Amino acid sequence: MKNVNSKEVSVLVSGPFNEPFDYVLEDKNTNFNVGQIVLVPFGKRKIVGVIIGDGTKTIPETKLKTVLKVYDLDPLPKPSIELMNFVASWYCVTRGLVLKMILSPIEAITSPDFEKVYKINIHNENEIKITNKRKLVLDFLLNLDIGKPQNDIIEQTGVSKAILRDMAKKKLIQEKKVYKTLKLNPYFLKNSKENKKNYDFLNLEQKFSVDKINDSIIKTKSDCFLLDGVPGSGKTETYFETVRTCLDQGKQALILLPEIILTTDWEKRFLKKFSFAPLVWNSGITKKKKKKIWLSALNGSAGVIVGARSALMLPISNLGLIVVDEEHEQAFKQEENVRYNARDMAIYRSTRSSSPIVLASATPSLETFYNAKNGKYIHLSLPKRATGATLPHIKLIDLTAHPPGTGKWLSPLLVGELENKLNNKEQSLLFLNRRGYAPLSICNSCGDKIKCVNCDTWLVDHRSKNILVCHHCGYSRIFENICKKCGVEGQIKACGPGVERIEEEIKEIFPKARLIVLSSDTMNNHKMLNDTVEKIKNNKVDIIVGTQMIAKGHDFPNLKLVGIVDSDIGLSGGDLRASERTFQVLQQVSGRSGRHSKKEEDKGVVLIQTFDTQNPIINAISKNNRNEFFDKELVSRQYANMPPYGRLASIILSSRLERKLEIYSLKLLKLAPFFKNVKIFGPAPAPIYFLRGRFRRRFLIKSDKNVNIQDVILNWTSKINTPNHIKLTIDIDPFSFM
Ligand code: ADP
Ligand code: ZN
Repeated sequence: MKNVNSKEVSVLVSGPFNEPFDYVLEDKNTNFNVGQIVLVPFGKRKIVGVIIGDGTKTIPETKLKTVLKVYDLDPLPKPSIELMNFVASWYCVTRGLVLKMILSPIEAITSPDFEKVYKINIHNENEIKITNKRKLVLDFLLNLDIGKPQNDIIEQTGVSKAILRDMAKKKLIQEKKVYKTLKLNPYFLKNSKENKKNYDFLNLEQKFSVDKINDSIIKTKSDCFLLDGVPGSGKTETYFETVRTCLDQGKQALILLPEIILTTDWEKRFLKKFSFAPLVWNSGITKKKKKKIWLSALNGSAGVIVGARSALMLPISNLGLIVVDEEHEQAFKQEENVRYNARDMAIYRSTRSSSPIVLASATPSLETFYNAKNGKYIHLSLPKRATGATLPHIKLIDLTAHPPGTGKWLSPLLVGELENKLNNKEQSLLFLNRRGYAPLSICNSCGDKIKCVNCDTWLVDHRSKNILVCHHCGYSRIFENICKKCGVEGQIKACGPGVERIEEEIKEIFPKARLIVLSSDTMNNHKMLNDTVEKIKNNKVDIIVGTQMIAKGHDFPNLKLVGIVDSDIGLSGGDLRASERTFQVLQQVSGRSGRHSKKEEDKGVVLIQTFDTQNPIINAISKNNRNEFFDKELVSRQYANMPPYGRLASIILSSRLERKLEIYSLKLLKLAPFFKNVKIFGPAPAPIYFLRGRFRRRFLIKSDKNVNIQDVILNWTSKINTPNHIKLTIDIDPFSFM
């Protein structure tokens, strides 16, 4: 990386700043690299920042403030700095905000733990007596270029600290203080040929895929692969094999996964395969662990890091491969602060480190499908279940012909099949993507629908806790059966089903069945989810009622029936991706059924309850016709000039002052630019007009693909003075339209 040549440096500080500031380095601090992390005075504060180049020389040196501290850490790798610049410019945020994400956890920088490392001093020509103990140390350190931590030497040779110190004083060995990282993965230390044997059991398609990806890893080509295969087709097994290659090349691998799939079950599988644990980066891990992983990423000792979206921001210095599993997942898009899509940015990141990236999915996003179709990505297909299992049998239940009883939600056909499975001691999963007991409560007397006080949304009945909850802001209150509007008692009725209500219905029909509800309310921490997954695997559960939390990733060998309670949710209305998303969720859940059934007679079953048997999405699912459905979706997107054909962005304005917000948004509208290939819609009240105590309006900006939509928006919004009470958020490539 480029050296900094002068004593004056420009430092980008962490925070809402886009431009760097000039500082001067103390005399003793010479020869620094771009990427070096420093502490600088900033107003009355001290802030952490990073050197991004030589000073601008626009201010006389004598007037510049001095860098307070140069942290004794490796500089941030160049790709991390490039990623920072790119994320900032793509998503219209300041570079300092992205830097803040990269430099988190900050403790890793401000208080790393140091240890002493010794290595042989080859230039030593003094005549010093080599005692036995000294010889032990020298032999141990022989050929170890980077040396060994003090503790390791003591452990392996049995010599004391004093001896090491004395040897360093006599210049037999060199002492260096380095920050503590995690132990090197065994892969980097020993030849891993013994592990090669696993490759042979893969099927032809898997091998083909592995070979293609390996080739790119070895040739350091930043190819983007779509690893496309039905659930259970062996995608994970396939990319594990490429991770192995990456490690064999002495490089680091990053696996991004939606947080809910990153269970101990996944970790165990990894451990079994590789005989070492991956470094897991998610919201559940301790600060101490985060600090170590961050530093190990930076100094190259972390072999495999698996994490939720923020793991992309880790300063991995020697990246050789990225995998984005379940690439279509919305969880990769961050919807607060910096609104970035970790999948998209991972693709950019891979080009910076000349490493390939693998997007894995059974139901790729339409964008990815399109890119694979037109050859921008390399399409790798795994068409059948790897275990030789048959695909499940999918049947529609026409709810108009076979309706549930009044106040019930399960058709007799579905109940009958549940009974079959119970008798066979097989598991069933009922899927309903709605938390709580009922999504809506109405007063039968006056017709009032109970709403949130902070938002323009309905409160959800969580009967198990006897509360009504807003799923948007978290507001909750005790459920009292008195209408706040008309005062009539005992007339509040639950409308529609949530998972708790299905639970109630099952308990009535099958009181003896062992039942479990899986939603973010019942599984509020990692341990609980992990334990439950184990319980299901060990056949301690008969029927699972779950939200999309259970739809993904898990492999439950004895699960033979998936019942989709309400497939019509999400089919009507909604946004650009509503049908794509419904398809994805339905296919994911269906894929849980009969993952290991090899014989025709114990084939998994999927029953889909619907009022609309002609719906194209449901038909595509039942006929296993994804590509045809996606092709049709693409045609309609093209017709509407929507992504991936056109570009989208939104501007969200919010304020506690409704009237002033309206005036401001009309002012902004007046300043809207006119371009032939840019269309601006709004300001419309957002679908959730009132959220967390703030009123909200939205602009939707749609343009041709070749338009720099960021420039258009930044030019536009810079023409207006935004008062403090208004928050203006730009969302590029939006996922949420609420
Ligand atoms: P996916 O990631 O596509 O859902 P997995 O990699 O989890 O699929 O594989 C599904 C199951 O099939 C796992 O139990 C896995 O161990 C097994 N499996 C994968 N590849 C093979 C293979 N070539 N032969 C036999 N079993 C396989
Ligand atoms: Zn609310």
